[in-house]
Amino acid sequence: MVGNRSKDTGPEIRLRRELHRRGLRYRKHTKLEVLGNRWSVDIAFPSQKVAIFVDGCFWHGCPEHMTWPKANAEWWHEKIERTRARDRDTTARLLTAGWHVIRLWEHEPADAAADRIEARLAESIAVRVRA
Ligand SMILES: [Zn+2]
Repeated sequence: MVGNRSKDTGPEIRLRRELHRRGLRYRKHTKLEVLGNRWSVDIAFPSQKVAIFVDGCFWHGCPEHMTWPKANAEWWHEKIERTRARDRDTTARLLTAGWHVIRLWEHEPADAAADRIEARLAESIAVRVRA
């Protein structure tokens, strides 16, 4: 499945639809200064500073579903490793800037993913109210 790596993948759309159904309002493909405006956050809740990434099983090397292409194996390993390094860097930058980061695999069911996100948002709001 050396497909496209476009935004708006099926799993991401299903998750956004589920969030919307629950009345959660987000921004999609948000570029942030802290990321140098180079990479965008798949789904962002800016006021709660919660950033969601829906990582594709192939491109981000999911341990459960990764099937390495046999042709150009070395090239692919390097490519996927670069993506993972970039993911770690993106997460680190966001954490440093006070964001909470949730990384999901595209194989995670939308409703379970939405549960996690909803719980996290509720926590962020509770922290703000206490402060
Ligand atoms: Zn997977």
